[in-house]
Amino acid sequence: MLLNAKEILLKEILNQYLNQLNMICHCEKCMEDVLAISLNQVKPQYITDIDKISYSKSEMVDKQKNTAMLVILTEATSKVSAFPRCENRLLLNKESY
Ligand SMILES: [Zn+2]
Repeated sequence: MLLNAKEILLKEILNQYLNQLNMICHCEKCMEDVLAISLNQVKPQYITDIDKISYSKSEMVDKQKNTAMLVILTEATSKVSAFPRCENRLLLNKESY
């Protein structure tokens, strides 16, 4: 099974910092958009075994790398929040204007 370790890590960081990121909408579509934008910014790291993720995770303990990922997620979040593409969009726009 081919897995992108960065995808798993970014998902974890996103869930961990969700309350600190100013996300206008937390629906599945917006979360996926944030992840897609973020993943396009980072080099993929493919693994064939989910157990190998633990190696990548120990790498993530490195605060600097963690912060870099968070910066990418923050930028992606503001992009998605500025132009949400989900069905909540009209509702959210009504509320903010
Ligand atoms: Zn949404």
